Amino acid sequence: MSTKTTDAVKQLTYLAGALKAPRILDVAGRLADQARDAGWTFEDYLAAVLEREVSARNASGAELRIRAAGFGARKTLEDFDFDAQPTVRNQVASLASGGFLTEARNVVLLGPPGTGKTHLAIALGVTACRHGHRVLFATATDWVTRLSDAHRAGRLPAELTKLRRYGLIIIDEVGYLPFEQDAANLFFQLVSSRYEHASLVLTSNLPFSGWGGVFGDQVVAAAMIDRIVHHADVLTLKGASYRLRNRGIDTLPSIRTTTNDTQG
Ligand code: ADP
Ligand code: MG
Repeated sequence: MSTKTTDAVKQLTYLAGALKAPRILDVAGRLADQARDAGWTFEDYLAAVLEREVSARNASGAELRIRAAGFGARKTLEDFDFDAQPTVRNQVASLASGGFLTEARNVVLLGPPGTGKTHLAIALGVTACRHGHRVLFATATDWVTRLSDAHRAGRLPAELTKLRRYGLIIIDEVGYLPFEQDAANLFFQLVSSRYEHASLVLTSNLPFSGWGGVFGDQVVAAAMIDRIVHHADVLTLKGASYRLRNRGIDTLPSIRTTTNDTQG
């Protein structure tokens, strides 16, 4: 290495540190050899170095958002077996582009237990994180607890405003437990505050016709469903539980008696 190159590397070490982009140092050296061999222009070289830094930053940003989202298990679209749910393949493929998030559209996943609703909800959440959106995942019951706490502390409006900064909120398991009247109202406020501003993904083992029973009020349920589905993709999963496939058990009782299965 010539003295000139050594000086340049020293300077690069300092500059990469000052930019808080230490990866640039490593990438710049490796790409310089490649650039010399392939006869790149200065512009090609600079673009290649910066591109590596930007994609590394995006990837670590996505990873931070995934960890902050509270998914529990990590599920992706890549490990979803669409042969088990062929009717939603195309719908999911178009959601994977993330366009529904920028349009503040919702996604509703309906179907019996074990058909992959939570899996797809998390997978769409992971996709959203990769597209640069902040995401929060919780069950309907947990959302109601969170909103009730905020309400009791007199900071419900602040909480709803804060939640609107998340590009995607996932509400898993609507309908597993019926809500009290107060809880139903809080839930309604969450849905309303996001309407046409930011996306929701909801999962439920009940068809919309059963939501009146969950919210204890047909009118509240109808108003909520109206807001949710006005701009939404509704995906209906079918068939037997994926967990029980190949085990000679085709069906589950429609009302489950176990409560300790959080992945329901
Ligand atoms: P639901 O929320 O509809 O009750 P889950 O999404 O929790 O079902 O699915 C139950 C388990 O089976 C999870 O571990 C999930 O990853 C897996 N699973 C369900 N459907 C599929 C599928 N089509 N491909 C791969 N794994 C699946
Ligand atoms: Mg589930």
